[in-house]
Amino acid sequence: MRLSPALVVALLGTALVAAPAQAPQTTLVASTAAGPSASAAAEGHDATAAAEGRDAARSAGAPLQGATIVIDPGHQLGNARFPRKINRPVSAGGLRKACNTTGTATAAGYPEATFAWRVAVRLRTRLEALGATVVMTRDRNSRRLWGPCVDVRGKLGNAGYRGRERAADLKISIHGDGAAASGHGFHVITTKRRGAVKRSARFGREVRAALESRKFRRSTYTAGGRGLVRRGDLGTLNLSRVPTAMVELGNMRNRRDARTMRSAAGQRRYAKALANSVVAYLGRY
Ligand SMILES: [Zn+2]
Repeated sequence: MRLSPALVVALLGTALVAAPAQAPQTTLVASTAAGPSASAAAEGHDATAAAEGRDAARSAGAPLQGATIVIDPGHQLGNARFPRKINRPVSAGGLRKACNTTGTATAAGYPEATFAWRVAVRLRTRLEALGATVVMTRDRNSRRLWGPCVDVRGKLGNAGYRGRERAADLKISIHGDGAAASGHGFHVITTKRRGAVKRSARFGREVRAALESRKFRRSTYTAGGRGLVRRGDLGTLNLSRVPTAMVELGNMRNRRDARTMRSAAGQRRYAKALANSVVAYLGRY
């Protein structure tokens, strides 16, 4: 898919307006949304031109048709209730780490798990409306559930894992940070895994650009003001063979960030930005 930025913006608008009202079901098994059908059929005498027209029309309705995106909505809400299970060490790609953590929360107790979940669901709706197949690393946000562990979250989407023939095209892991209350803003974390650094960094830059274009600010407390950092200690990144970025969308301990992160309007704005970053990244193939 090769799309100009202007066309991408137009397509995003079109596809979202035409999206089905009900959210399609997505579980650990991939589900495919019925993308909006192309309305403008090509007319012409030349068969090749007509075929090209059909292709263009199809991509105009669903620019992510054929793409599989993995969304990782971070920690499960119930993790804190299962300390033995989430503290169990698992492979994190070159090191061993706890299966998972509880995640953070705002000062008023709004959990990171719920924030990440709400953004992920909104993002899933948008990506499916654009024609993508979405795979989620967890299909519910519940106090009764825990995990999955970082090894599963890292590998989900890899070719050969859980019967998947072809690797997913992209993976995004959604988090909220829990830093000192004075710091604010987002930062994107990309991989140090050999052979995957460039693609992960390129996707990371698209995520940063899309967030900034939606008026989110780079982190003031980490990543050297670049809003982008490479890390080699995260199983979600180390074990993924899919171009992957992890994003800390804001600092939940900061009062202003927390207000945005818990509001429906803020969550919508995050999801829009992330959907734009996916289209921007995949549109360059
Ligand atoms: Zn987190």
